[in-house]
Amino acid sequence: MNATLPLFIDGEHVVSAATEFHQTHDPCTGEARQRVPLSTAAELEAAVAGAARAFQDWRETSVPQRARLMLKYQQLLKEHADELARLISEESGKTLADAHGDLWRGIEVVEQATGIARLLQGDYSENVAQGVDTYSLRQPLGVCLGITPFNFPAMIPLWMFPLAIACGNTFILKPSEQVARTALRLAELLIAAGAPTGVLQVVHGQAAQVEALIDHAQVRAVSFVGSVAGAQAVYRRATQALKRAQCLAGAKNHMVILPDADRETTLRALAGAACGAAGQRCMAISAAVFVGAARHWQEELVDHLRQLRPGPPTQADAAFGPLISAQAQARVQSLIAQGSQEGAVCRLDGRTLTAPAGHAGGYWLGPTLFTGVTPAMAIYREEIFGPVLCALEVDDLDAAIALINANPYGNGTALFTASGASARRFIHQVEVGQIGINLAIPVPLPFFSFTGWRRSFYGDLHAYGEQAIQFYTETKTVTTRWQGQAPRQSSTILT
Ligand code: NAD
Repeated sequence: MNATLPLFIDGEHVVSAATEFHQTHDPCTGEARQRVPLSTAAELEAAVAGAARAFQDWRETSVPQRARLMLKYQQLLKEHADELARLISEESGKTLADAHGDLWRGIEVVEQATGIARLLQGDYSENVAQGVDTYSLRQPLGVCLGITPFNFPAMIPLWMFPLAIACGNTFILKPSEQVARTALRLAELLIAAGAPTGVLQVVHGQAAQVEALIDHAQVRAVSFVGSVAGAQAVYRRATQALKRAQCLAGAKNHMVILPDADRETTLRALAGAACGAAGQRCMAISAAVFVGAARHWQEELVDHLRQLRPGPPTQADAAFGPLISAQAQARVQSLIAQGSQEGAVCRLDGRTLTAPAGHAGGYWLGPTLFTGVTPAMAIYREEIFGPVLCALEVDDLDAAIALINANPYGNGTALFTASGASARRFIHQVEVGQIGINLAIPVPLPFFSFTGWRRSFYGDLHAYGEQAIQFYTETKTVTTRWQGQAPRQSSTILT
């Protein structure tokens, strides 16, 4: 099987006229899987033109009708959950349990979008002057663009288009060329739920296609999730074109372990957060900071990590799957080699893993642990995006906080402790957007927003939650006075 993926324009599968393709491979076996066309300029134009046409009617659709579409959509996503999870696993190599989680976190955003009537409500102030009232309302922008990464084939597209569309916009999705089939299925189901054609278009491509879409005069807003390099390029281009943009980027998430934490719970949580999804999560823990006497726990950590065995989605007890591609595997392997060259101690080397039976061509890597890591080393400075954990040691909590704040990334961090006072200090002082206390992966539910900081985010308004409603709408403020109502003069004027 090496099918060529279609585009999804105006509710139809469209065979691309592209002459260039991205070839994907099954991450578990290395077999060629699908050819993803790099959309032509005419196809991108057709997608934007269709979305702009659809916007004219969609913006006039009543808000309760938009909410009903989302109610139907979340129902369809749940009915198709097994099929979608299988597809996610097939494309990304994730375990089935992980794939269900990927979809479920996306469905939760659709559930939030069902409450769009309340979320879109404006403000009203009566008598701002005599006989004069002011109110504000939110209106959709038009055509919005979303560019998504490979590591959450369902969740991240669902962070974007359901809320944008519920706000009255139409949407162009350019999914990761590595996992684009899931995005196509999500779009088909939105149409099946009753969305008018053209409200959601799916095009394929890489940087060149993204650039053309950003530059298109009818694209009003750009949502991006991916690497730092991609986020910076997209943010620069979109803002240069004077468009609003929210660009979520890479991460290096630290977990701080105080000696008063529960040892067993902490080490189990740490191993899972480092290796889950093969470390290919933007909220994965990639740096463990052992404080004071907790440094002696590292020996036991090796045992916890060793127990985590990767395997294909068909293997029920697999702890995680392979890396996404041969390139990703080669990159992570080379960083591991560099770690040893730079003097870190490789306590567990995932490169020695024997591939699961029948999957020799896959992009496998076992859990890897470096101890004695210092901030100058490449394995600490760079986002590895694999099941590789760097362990560092510091003397006290202040030193741990200083270490985290000196690192350029600020997506997520965690503290494990039994001390409320330590937790309070950590929460107050650490310069990271999402904090877990005795929770290793603190991803907020959709009634909050996903709030990475510093090099992990470029923009002002974050993904999903209230901030996404602001991002996908423009505020209009209206001040009214109706003639014929004689204003009564007030006898007192307060100054
Ligand atoms: P990537 O940056 O390679 O690709 C992401 C998307 O951007 C893809 O659709 C790709 O085609 C496109 N793209 C790549 N380079 C581009 C460029 N120069 N201009 C325009 N578009 C470009 O990222 P990836 O490898 O697919 O995903 C992994 C990365 O995403 C990791 O760094 C991870 O931390 C990050 N990520 C961040 C979050 C978050 O919420 N902060 C969530 C998930 C993943």
